[in-house]
Amino acid sequence: MHNLLKQATAWLKNPLINGLFYRLNLGITKSYLLKCPDGYLLIDTGYKHKFRKFIREIHRIGVNTVDIKYILLTHHHDDHAGFIAEMRTYTNAQLIIHEESAAGLRKGESENTMHPVNNRIKKLFPIFRLIHPDFKFPQVFLKENDILIAGDDNELLRKIGIHGQIMMTPGHSHDSMSVIMDDGCAFVGDLAMNFLKLTGIRYRPIYCENIEQVFDNWKKVVDSGVKTIYPAHGKPFPAVKLITSKWYKLYQNQIDKKNKSAEQQTDLLSR
Ligand SMILES: [Zn+2]
Repeated sequence: MHNLLKQATAWLKNPLINGLFYRLNLGITKSYLLKCPDGYLLIDTGYKHKFRKFIREIHRIGVNTVDIKYILLTHHHDDHAGFIAEMRTYTNAQLIIHEESAAGLRKGESENTMHPVNNRIKKLFPIFRLIHPDFKFPQVFLKENDILIAGDDNELLRKIGIHGQIMMTPGHSHDSMSVIMDDGCAFVGDLAMNFLKLTGIRYRPIYCENIEQVFDNWKKVVDSGVKTIYPAHGKPFPAVKLITSKWYKLYQNQIDKKNKSAEQQTDLLSR
């Protein structure tokens, strides 16, 4: 009876979503654990100090570290790569990363190439720095059988029994990539965020390298048939919200205007 109750609470806390994956709550970062024929694929870890919590979460759903055969990283930042090094002392899981993530992982540091998306985030930054003084994490050294991805890939995941593809989605960082599942779910890392609503970010990443790339990749993701976004920060949400959001529309209007004036220019030239 006690066991049954334990199982029921575990299920309520971490239900198997669509019969395919678990959403693990590792504080500010959410990781995703996908079933595959020979074990599990983990999408992202969390901050380095969240490893114990991660272990508790997976044990609760009956998964052990050795069952995790692959760790796919959406990008190299500390809140995603934090406990990969520690994790790899318990499992031989193969890493699947963007080839441009390798340098940051080796350094054990988030590259400082981003800027806050708006003024409210800029003002919040010093407070964030107080609780989170550096952007470092234990260095991750690549092993021979780790897999580096250089562009959109529609084969690798299928080879390991996952019905989905890897899509390059830079903008938050140059090495950002997403997992797009055939059933319409997408694990996008920090391409879109669904938290800190009062800051007015509206799904934009709080920091980014190139906001225009972010918007272009929102469209790329939605155009690929994605229905639900599973972000690394915040709750899942319908993908259509991305391309109907205020900031995306403003961006798209600007592009339309630019295209129109370019058209008029060529019209004039051809007369
Ligand atoms: Zn990030």
